[in-house]
Amino acid sequence: MKTVQLNNGVEIPILGFGVFQIPAEDTEQAVSDAIKAGYRHIDTAQSYMNEMEVGLGIKNSGVVREELFVTTKIWIENVSYDGVMNSFQGSLDRLGLDYIDLLLIHQPYNDVYGAWRAMEELHKEGKIRAIGISNFAADRAVDLALFNEVIPTINQIEINPFNQQTEALEALKAEGICAEAWAPFAEGKNNIFQNDILSEIGKKYNKSVAQVIVRWLVEQEIVVLAKTTKRERMAENIDIFDFSLTDEDKVTIATLNVGESQFFSHADPNMIKMLAQNKLGL
Ligand code: NAP
Repeated sequence: MKTVQLNNGVEIPILGFGVFQIPAEDTEQAVSDAIKAGYRHIDTAQSYMNEMEVGLGIKNSGVVREELFVTTKIWIENVSYDGVMNSFQGSLDRLGLDYIDLLLIHQPYNDVYGAWRAMEELHKEGKIRAIGISNFAADRAVDLALFNEVIPTINQIEINPFNQQTEALEALKAEGICAEAWAPFAEGKNNIFQNDILSEIGKKYNKSVAQVIVRWLVEQEIVVLAKTTKRERMAENIDIFDFSLTDEDKVTIATLNVGESQFFSHADPNMIKMLAQNKLGL
């Protein structure tokens, strides 16, 4: 699997398997299937309520720990110095691991500076190989990078053909922060899997819409997280390393950008209140 080198030298597999919205009872099987299909990078979170089942899937995969890259995320209520210190060990225990490859602040709310200092300490102690953020607007990512010792390695944000995040990508690149795409398929919104433009491009290479999207992100050196519970789709989504998009394809895909979230704005005060109460199960 192709990797991307983060700003601290750690290599992250460019394609990861996401387990958001996979019910806990299905997660062990899904993770085990994904690892069998060739994925070596798993993305979970405290709020997904499936860290324990991710750990079981990893343990039963037979693949050695060092070959896997595991991400989890600190939920809003734990985003403070004490919150990270008190909740991190719980994540490790549920995952059955003694270190995490990548720990992210899941949402840009609560005491992100306190949380960051705790993450810096855990990183120095060797319990986390890389630390990063998620859903941070570019200005807040730059602010965090400027006023702390450790620069975030990654900002995990929504990126898909409808929300291409062109300006955010430039700002992150300028700070040496790697972009990681959540909802690369926009969770199927706007009939993305039937989209005419993406289907036509796919036909030229005998590839599906999902494969065109993953390839389009990988060619931008964006780390991609794809979620599916179906074995055939796991195999499909990873089978993207044998073709290339032309400049013309990329110009055509650029026309799909509407430049806004397919879900919600992280700057909407009502959404922040909902998220803080974890009413969305994110
Ligand atoms: P996504 O990957 O864009 O879309 C997943 C949906 O696409 C599922 O309904 C899946 O259905 C379907 N799908 C997958 N492959 C397909 C294929 N080849 N053909 C047709 N349908 C296909 O959405 P996501 O799960 O929201 O995002 C991916 C990962 O990013 C998450 O699992 C999570 O790890 C991460 N994430 C992070 C945040 C954050 O705030 N940091 C937010 C959202 C997601 P089936 O499962 O039925 O196949």
